[in-house]
Amino acid sequence: MKETKEQIVQKDRDSYIPVFARYDIVLDHGDGMYVYDTDGRKYIDYLGGIAVNVLGHNHPALVKAVAEQAGRMIHCSNLYYTQAQADAAGKLVKRSGLGKVFFGNSGAEANEGAIKLARKYAWRKDPEKIQIIVANHSFHGRTLATLTATGQPKYHEGFGPLPAGFEYVDFGDYDAIEARMSDKTCAVMLETIQGEGGVHVPPADYYRKIRALCDRYDACLILDEIQCGMGRTGHFFAYEQFGIKPDIVTLAKGLAGGVPIGAFIASDKVAAAFQAGDHGSTFGGNPLACAAANVVLDTVSRPEFLAQVARVGAYLRQKLESLQQQYPSLITEVRGAGLMLGMQLTKPGRDIVNACLEQGAIINCTAGDVLRFVPPLIAEEKDVDELIAIMEKVLPAFA
Ligand SMILES: *Cc1c(COP(=O)(O)O)cnc(C)c1O
Repeated sequence: MKETKEQIVQKDRDSYIPVFARYDIVLDHGDGMYVYDTDGRKYIDYLGGIAVNVLGHNHPALVKAVAEQAGRMIHCSNLYYTQAQADAAGKLVKRSGLGKVFFGNSGAEANEGAIKLARKYAWRKDPEKIQIIVANHSFHGRTLATLTATGQPKYHEGFGPLPAGFEYVDFGDYDAIEARMSDKTCAVMLETIQGEGGVHVPPADYYRKIRALCDRYDACLILDEIQCGMGRTGHFFAYEQFGIKPDIVTLAKGLAGGVPIGAFIASDKVAAAFQAGDHGSTFGGNPLACAAANVVLDTVSRPEFLAQVARVGAYLRQKLESLQQQYPSLITEVRGAGLMLGMQLTKPGRDIVNACLEQGAIINCTAGDVLRFVPPLIAEEKDVDELIAIMEKVLPAFA
């Protein structure tokens, strides 16, 4: 029996651990750039499941691939080969120019695996080479190691003892990394562009300098592209625009367009630190998830697709900047790349998010006072116009 919104909300409140501050709607289905709630209300989706639904909702080729694979075989153990997994691995290796892939089920797992791999690589040289330099305001996940890598003390409180060896520096400050670097440094781990922390882009020469420093100390450069990768910036990997390659890059969120998956990709030299038995996953990269990933990888890799992300992203940025000019006391900066944009406010953003929701637009607020726009990568100019029209209605009440 179909329940009312109130019944569903009540049942969830009675049963689900309340770790999410949820908005007061029950979503039912989606179509392209839109999602629909149980009352049939339509919302344009500028969150995309937090940078997950890169092909939008119910993309025909993605639905078909998942349905076909579910009818053939949803899962088999990683003790066996499957074509879906071999295809997805091959595509990621080719695209990244790195050497080998491992699949897990989430972003946290991808980062956890990357940390383990970097530690094992360093351990073979020196068991005390354990230091991992990470950034303040970063976000890397909720497992104990990735939580520790996350440079936000509010997420650490109450979960100690935390794994040892992590050190925090300000994002974008190369000198701070250089000052902490030593023979005991195992890795520098950064989001190429910070997402959850408020959409922060580092200086243009940041990664070239870090790359050289990591080479000098034989430390791994781990780039977390779980949010900023998969074409989001208009480049397949965000690191491409900085002219470097990491030793390990992690992906998740958009990789299979909404089917749970995570991956880390490493250079052959670093990947060789893992032998049979050193790491594993029951579900990771199963045929269902990889069938979905193959469709997303084929679609997002196309130069026309990436060019559209760059073009529509620039258009959205320009529209957000004109809002900034209109409301300078509310909006102080627009930043980001491609379809990963943040709008810095002078006050908390949650009420603006709620007001947009009432007007039929899903947006997000992160770091308290940054509106974050990470829509499906299929967004077009007309979808930008629709969002901006709603924001123009909503913002005057907050300026
Ligand atoms: C979302 C996110 C993660 C964590 O991914 P989960 O799938 O929630 O574990 C890690 N790093 C970044 C940059 C993210 O945006």
